[in-house]
Formats: sequence, structure tokens, C-alpha cells
Amino acid sequence: MIKKILTDPDHVLRQKAKELTDQEINNEKLKNLIKDLAETMDADNGVGIAAPQIGESIRLCLITKKFNPLGKKDLVLINPKWTKTTMKTAWDEEGCLSVPDTYGKVKRYVKIKVEAKDENGNPIAFPAEKFFARIIQHEIDHLDGILFTDKAKNVYQISKF
Ligand code: ZN
Repeated sequence: MIKKILTDPDHVLRQKAKELTDQEINNEKLKNLIKDLAETMDADNGVGIAAPQIGESIRLCLITKKFNPLGKKDLVLINPKWTKTTMKTAWDEEGCLSVPDTYGKVKRYVKIKVEAKDENGNPIAFPAEKFFARIIQHEIDHLDGILFTDKAKNVYQISKF
């Protein structure tokens, strides 16, 4: 089901989201939530989405299959963590479903490694770089109550009219 996306300002977007227990991961409710997140992301043409964006303050995010170099389906990250594997950073433009019609340049690490659990609760670990690494850093920021506009420079809005 397509859910309503919370937009800034909203207190859920600013909370530090809760880790999921193994019991919570192996649960029909979570599988439905993942489905809802995917449908909501696709309906708005998002490249990624985090659970707090639909009002669920839990550490879960998705990266669209269109930008998932690891497979042909959306990448589900549960309790994800990342660490930089280079000091190199890059500025590039970002937007966010929760900050409509707003764009700005954000500095991100170019190469990271990611550890998480997949939708079945299995641990996964992989390197990520460039745009893929950028989306992951953006989505994990959501789990810590951070929006890209907190970090962005040259922020601008496009008019709908
Ligand atoms: Zn976002």
C-alpha cells in the first residue's frame, strides 16, 4: 500500500530510530512494511526510502533496484551501519521525498563499507561507492533523524507553478 510520506518539519523525521530485534525482523508485519515502503518509494520515483519517512521510527531502509548493483531487486537494509573506507569525499546534488522540491549539494564519503541484515535477518556486508554509497549515507542519516538539508549547501527550491 502506498503510504503518506512525512515531510519536514515532522518530529518522527527527527527521531533516532529504534534497532529491530531478530524477532521483529522475522515477522509478517515487517514484510508488509517493506512492501509498503517499496510501493511508496516507486510511486514517488525515489531512489531510496527510510521507514521513518512513513512514520515508522525503526532502523530499516530500502535502495531502489534501479541503483542496486548487488542484485535485481530493491536492497533492504535492516539495522544498517557504514564506515568510510577512504578519506575522499565528494559534493553532489541531493533531494529527498520528505523535503519536496528542494535540492542542494551534500558532501559524502565516496567509498564506504556497509553492514546490515537483509529482509530474512541474514547478515550482509558489502562495499559501496559513488552514487550507491551516497544513497546509503542519505538513507542511514534518516535513521538518525538527519535530513540532507542539515548538511547541504547551495540549497534551492523549484517552484511547482
Ligand atoms: Zn531522504
